[in-house]
Amino acid sequence: MAESVQFPSGLWNEDEFRVLTAPLQGAFLTLCLRPELGALGAMPVFLGRIALVTAGAERVDVLDNLRRLALVGWIVLDEVEEELFVPRFMEFNGVEKNPNRLRRAITESHAIESAIVAAAVADVLDRLARIDANRAAQRLRRVEAGQRPRARPNIDEEIRHTVYVRHGWACAYCSHQFAPAPTGAPEDEAAGIWLELDHIRPYSLGGDDAAANLRAACSTCNRRRGVDDLDLWADKTGGA
Ligand SMILES: [Zn+2]
Repeated sequence: MAESVQFPSGLWNEDEFRVLTAPLQGAFLTLCLRPELGALGAMPVFLGRIALVTAGAERVDVLDNLRRLALVGWIVLDEVEEELFVPRFMEFNGVEKNPNRLRRAITESHAIESAIVAAAVADVLDRLARIDANRAAQRLRRVEAGQRPRARPNIDEEIRHTVYVRHGWACAYCSHQFAPAPTGAPEDEAAGIWLELDHIRPYSLGGDDAAANLRAACSTCNRRRGVDDLDLWADKTGGA
């Protein structure tokens, strides 16, 4: 899926980046602009196909640059599984402030095959999730004005399925049709949207997680409705 990527220009202010040689700085910045990095910042690298490329008059050993970047921790490179990950990629792109994108990153993380990359991804997602959870908690405190937050159980997979079937795997608002998914969130990758559960009576106003209080809504319509950001967080941690 095409993502708009930010050029991480703030890196020029970081000593750890400034001490890299110019070719390594260039290699890292070029890598950060690769569309294959998606929302997560991980991509396959076909090492057999990476060799010397010509940049102007210079011959550049791309693999050597990647190895050097991995040595100093700017990337995580698994040469056996042929995957790489840029741990700060989501930070560069403000993913923790963008729930849709964070959710896509989580979905993309399920495709990781390398144990090394998966561990690094889990570390970063864990940190971002805590940031997101803190924000959610702040919102909850504002919404409930001093009341203690209720513990939020994950919505049962069976209820989720029941609601999606009831709506024919389509958004209740815009009727966008999704392909049935046996588990998790049905997704239309081409459109960059997925199906979610929408609380008819918002959870923050006492609505429950019974099928009768839920309807299927695509991620766009659910955001547009904008009733309760916390549901997104719960949905994200519970499903997908
Ligand atoms: Zn919709």
